[in-house]
Amino acid sequence: MLGEWSDLSSERSRLKAVLLHFFSLASLLVILLFGVLSVYNDHLAFAYLDFSAAFFLLLNVAILRASRRLQLATIMAVSIAAYLLLGLMALAAAADTTFLWVYLLPLVAFFLLGYRMGLVVILPFTVGVLGILFYLRNTLLASVQDPVFLTRFVGSYALVVVFAYLFERFRYRAQNRLEQEITTRKEAEVDLIRAKEAAEKATRIKSEFLANMSHEIRTPLHGIIGVTQLMQEGALSDQGREHTQIIQTSASTLLDIINQILDLARVEEGKINIITKPFDLQKLIHVVADLQRPLAEKKKLELAVDIAPDLPRLLVGDPLLIRQVLINLVSNAVKFTETGSVRIAVELSQKSLPNLDLRLRVSDTGIGVPADKQELIFEKFTQADGSSSRDYGGTGLGLAISRQLVELMGGQLGVDSQAGKGSSFWFSLRLAPATEADSKQVEPEAAPATKFPRIEAENKRVLLAEDNAVNMMIAEIMLSKMGFLVDKAKDGVEASQKFRPGHYALIFMDCQMPGMDGF
Ligand code: ADP
Repeated sequence: MLGEWSDLSSERSRLKAVLLHFFSLASLLVILLFGVLSVYNDHLAFAYLDFSAAFFLLLNVAILRASRRLQLATIMAVSIAAYLLLGLMALAAAADTTFLWVYLLPLVAFFLLGYRMGLVVILPFTVGVLGILFYLRNTLLASVQDPVFLTRFVGSYALVVVFAYLFERFRYRAQNRLEQEITTRKEAEVDLIRAKEAAEKATRIKSEFLANMSHEIRTPLHGIIGVTQLMQEGALSDQGREHTQIIQTSASTLLDIINQILDLARVEEGKINIITKPFDLQKLIHVVADLQRPLAEKKKLELAVDIAPDLPRLLVGDPLLIRQVLINLVSNAVKFTETGSVRIAVELSQKSLPNLDLRLRVSDTGIGVPADKQELIFEKFTQADGSSSRDYGGTGLGLAISRQLVELMGGQLGVDSQAGKGSSFWFSLRLAPATEADSKQVEPEAAPATKFPRIEAENKRVLLAEDNAVNMMIAEIMLSKMGFLVDKAKDGVEASQKFRPGHYALIFMDCQMPGMDGF
């Protein structure tokens, strides 16, 4: 029946269209039926009224289908009902049953048309009703002419009109307010989504920028460090040796700072994955201690390792992250201690098998951290004493990163300290002892690298793919010093052309290269 009406956009308009079609057709049938009955009963005036109302209704349905204007069709339908009612009142000598229908019209008009358009229909209708009551009074039935009946009717009709009007007006305003509120909320939601997208984009750009910056800065830095190292290998005057040492230290510090900033960015973006595997904690601690030993010895500090005797040798955890945190704590302890000792200890605080609760502690007899600074130093870029970066160097990032890494592994990192007496930094870890099967996968802890060890191997051919000329030169010299025979390729394409199965013992590749990358 609806035809193209069924694709009206809103559910509400569709429902209205169905109702309008249904009531128009049903009314048409009823009115026509009354018209035919009136002809048979010789009530010709009724018949004319009915047929004309039927004609108007039919016209309305036609207009409705042609113009698809629901509002217009509804106004016309209500007006036709008013016309029919008024006609009936005038012709039926206004029987009191007709008056019952009169109440219905204001309700229907305000409900269907809203309070403004409802008034447009109801005002002329009311004038019509009153006109019939007072100008055609003499033609009305005696029961209707009764002043008591008339007063009651007019009073109650006025009440119905006023209440229907006020009710519709109130409903309209409330609905408007609600719709406005919904619109505001929807707009806020859209704003929020946009802001979130912008923030995500900014984060993405930040990571890309950091990744690029890291590559761009670290490449020349490695160049400086490599060349300095090569220079130190050769013959140098005492002054030359001192100067190259300064270059070496400065470049290494810069590299440390950049690595720390990158680490922090990776932690904050949740890009650090925990990779658990069986490892030897005791060995890991000794390797870290050995790394710091030259510096400790230089400052005449005692560096001791103290491991709980009942600690299993092999545990399952992320050795790289544990090592990073431990290196940070031990290097801080050595840095901030002038006399006395640094002690690395592992305490087994609880054995709740299958897990072990461990506490790794790095204690020193150094400058200590004042009580009011003990939380502050875990903030990013914060140091206990403003002058410490001048006296000791550093960025104030190490502890912030370490704490986040430990929390990532499910532990906590804290400090007990007394200013002037020393500090004890600790972190807790819950690790499982390795099983028999696990222990077969243990990788040996990498020992600190010795400079340019000589390689004893049958095949000493190495293919080196690198686009940066400085890096290429340094790597070539270093590999040659170790006894390798180096073949060079300037990018991935050349490397794959030079590759022959079984020819090279090793291929060394840069990951980022133009043309074809290392991956
Ligand atoms: P950095 O060492 O690069 O400044 P950290 O985050 O590792 O950054 O340390 C933050 C600050 O905490 C240090 O600057 C120092 O003031 C204080 N601190 C860290 N470790 C110690 C320690 N073992 N003894 C005294 N102060 C320390």
